[in-house]
Amino acid sequence: ATPTAVTVGIGRGAELGVLIRNGEALEISEKLTAVIFDKTGTLTRGKPDVTDIVPAGMGEGRLLSLAAAVEKNSQHPLAEAVVRRAESAGVSVPASERFTTFGGRGVSAVVEGEEVLIGNQPFLDEYRIGVPPEAESRIAALQDEGKTAVLVAAAGRFAGILAIADTLKPTTKAAIADLKKIGLTVTMITGDNPRTANAIAREVGIEDVHAGVLPQEKAREVRALQERGEVVAFVGDGINDAPALAQADVGIAIGSGTDVAIESGDIVLIRDDLVDAVAAIELSRKVMSRIK
Ligand code: ADP
Ligand code: MG
Repeated sequence: ATPTAVTVGIGRGAELGVLIRNGEALEISEKLTAVIFDKTGTLTRGKPDVTDIVPAGMGEGRLLSLAAAVEKNSQHPLAEAVVRRAESAGVSVPASERFTTFGGRGVSAVVEGEEVLIGNQPFLDEYRIGVPPEAESRIAALQDEGKTAVLVAAAGRFAGILAIADTLKPTTKAAIADLKKIGLTVTMITGDNPRTANAIAREVGIEDVHAGVLPQEKAREVRALQERGEVVAFVGDGINDAPALAQADVGIAIGSGTDVAIESGDIVLIRDDLVDAVAAIELSRKVMSRIK
C-alpha cells in the first residue's frame, strides 16, 4: 500500500499545480541528480514570431508567400510563426502539393510548379543548395541573438532567411538558478542549431548544451546520463520529447504540451511554470525524509 505520506504529498502537489501521476515519481524525485530541459516550448514560451525577413534574389513578399505556402501544412511552432507573419503582412499564400516533413530538419512542398525547401542548414546541405557567404554570416549573427534562422530554397536555389525568435517564460531563469542551488546538474537539449541554443542557454544560465539533436536521439541522451550514474529528470512538451520523458527516471511534462508528452510524463506541470518543477522536487525531499 502507498504510505500515507506519499498520498499526502500527491495531494500537496495538486495544490501547488503539480500533477503527480504515481507515488513512485514522488519517491524517485528525491534522488534526482540531473535535470534535462527541452528548449522550445519548455524553457521558451513556444510561441515564436518572425523577426527578420532576408530574401535572396526575390522580394520580401515573395519569400514570405512561398514559405507560408509550404508551412501552412505543418504544425511546427516555426511554421505557425511563418504563416501568422504572412497573414499580418497580407501576402497571398498560394496552394501547395506533395508536402513532406523531415523530422527535426525541415519541410518541403511544390508551390506553383517549383519545389520549395524550408529548414535548417544541414537540411539545405542535403539537397546541395549553396548558401552565399553573405547569407552565412547573416545567419550566424541572427543565431548569436538567440534567433532560429529558417532557410528557404526554391527551384534548387537559396531564396532567403526567415529569422524566428521565441521568448523565455518569465520564471525560466529563476527555476534554473533554484535547481543549481539545490545541487542538480542542468542540461539543455534541442533540435535547434548550436549557436541559437548556446545564446539561449547563456541567457538562462545553462552551461551544458546538446544542440542539433534529432527527435529520436533525445532519449539516447537521457540514457547516456543514466549510464554515468545520474538519476535524471527530463522536462519537455513536444511529440519529440515523449521517448525521453519515458526513458527518464522522472518525466516532467509541460501542462500545455502535446497530448503524447503529457501521457508520457510521471509529473505534469499544470501551470507550465518551471518553478513548479523545483517545488515538486523539494516536496519529494520533504515527504521522503518524513518516511525514513
Ligand atoms: P526543437 O527540439 O527545438 O523543438 P525540432 O526538433 O522540432 O526542434 O526541429 C529542429 C530544427 O529543424 C528546427 O530548429 C528547424 O531548424 C528545423 N525545422 C523543423 N521543422 C521545421 C519547419 N516546419 N519549418 C522550418 N524548419 C523546421
Ligand atoms: Mg519543445
